[in-house]
Amino acid sequence: MFIETALREAIEASKKWNLPIGAILVIWDKIVGVAGNEIGTKNSRNAHAERILLEQFPEYRDVPDKKLYVTLEPCRKCMKSIVDFWGFSEVNYILKDTDLWWCAFHRDTLKQVGIQTNILQSNEEEYLRIIIQSLKNFWDTEDMSFYTFFFIKMIGDKIHKYESLKKMSEYPLFEKLHKQYHWL
Ligand SMILES: [Zn+2]
Repeated sequence: MFIETALREAIEASKKWNLPIGAILVIWDKIVGVAGNEIGTKNSRNAHAERILLEQFPEYRDVPDKKLYVTLEPCRKCMKSIVDFWGFSEVNYILKDTDLWWCAFHRDTLKQVGIQTNILQSNEEEYLRIIIQSLKNFWDTEDMSFYTFFFIKMIGDKIHKYESLKKMSEYPLFEKLHKQYHWL
């Protein structure tokens, strides 16, 4: 299953202090490229898995009938990159973005250029949802108590990292994630 490979990339990305988002490029039923989110590793909020993936393979631009498998519905900027890359017939993802008006706009954009979107089932959906929602909450509320750890790499401060880890260990969700997904 292609989406399982995307999930593995997502978990690998999260182990390196990135968001658990993975993307897979499939051409004629073969995986030709994989990428994970690198916002922590590259210290950039724009290092989204989909864009990193496409930037790696300019030679596949304009090849028809490409398929993208990604753990989270692509954001607007990634959606634009996908459309501009040309030749995609399908975009498949597990988790819908929860920001509704924003996403309805995305889905229409893809439909208008003839790209089919499919939402796939996965046992890891709940895990992905918790993490992504946590991140959104952080952005919405700037709650520094727990979710700071996503940005530790970006902040690049070791003392801050230590303090955040202490806060995380007091949070029950952390226990669950640590046990279930071997975080850290
Ligand atoms: Zn994106």
